[in-house]
Amino acid sequence: MLIILLGPPGAGKGTQAERMTRDFELTYISTGDILRSAVKDNNELGRKARQYMDQGRLVPDDLVVDIVKARLMDEDGKKGALFDGFPRTVEQAVFLEKALPDLGAEINRVFSIEVEESELIERLTGRRVCSDCGTSYHLKFNPPKVRNVCDQCGGDLYQRDDDSLETVQERLKVYKKQTEPLIDFYRTRDLLSPIDGNQDIEGVYKQISSVLSDL
Ligand code: ADP
Ligand code: AMP
Repeated sequence: MLIILLGPPGAGKGTQAERMTRDFELTYISTGDILRSAVKDNNELGRKARQYMDQGRLVPDDLVVDIVKARLMDEDGKKGALFDGFPRTVEQAVFLEKALPDLGAEINRVFSIEVEESELIERLTGRRVCSDCGTSYHLKFNPPKVRNVCDQCGGDLYQRDDDSLETVQERLKVYKKQTEPLIDFYRTRDLLSPIDGNQDIEGVYKQISSVLSDL
């Protein structure tokens, strides 16, 4: 089983993924998390990716495709995967489509989470993330029980460097130009489930889980 979460930055992909992996047998694969961890480790991948991420631009396709290839070959990646933030360009989507038959896998559903732009800016600039487990919170919409402390693991919360207003605006532009065309790409393949992401977190999850339960 392979599920893809599509949607602009701040749509709630990571937030919904947490619930989806809790209730369904899916291995979470977030290229953003993998890249941030490489930047933190200051390894070769991280050093190459950092400049693009800091500017709110996409990391080149060849680097991202290598990450995904390695992840899909892992044992847990073979069971069933939930992609968050991948694919993000038509080239990445074509790579995935070509790679799947060899892995004996297919894409079962693509959820496109749709949210108004003004709401996206508010969600991203108020986002706080756990430095240990990556869980996302929001200062206003989804605050942790104790200020700046993760409910799940007790880790410290931080604001991502790319969640500043200036970088958020660039990321939204990049999304429109490079990622939004994937909505049509998957619609024409009859794989798309549009989701109204303007509702509260549980309201969005209700729509997603009802589709997932029927797969
Ligand atoms: P993405 O992974 O798509 O970039 P996140 O899941 O990290 O987005 O969500 C972005 C921010 O918006 C986080 O601070 C999160 O707590 C908050 N958020 C997520 N879903 C909702 C929602 N339905 N309503 C309000 N805030 C939300
Ligand atoms: P995310 O955590 O999904 O918001 O991703 C954070 C940043 O990582 C993006 O702004 C890109 O710079 C980079 N990134 C994550 N996934 C991809 C991808 N599939 N292709 C290119 N760049 C990516």
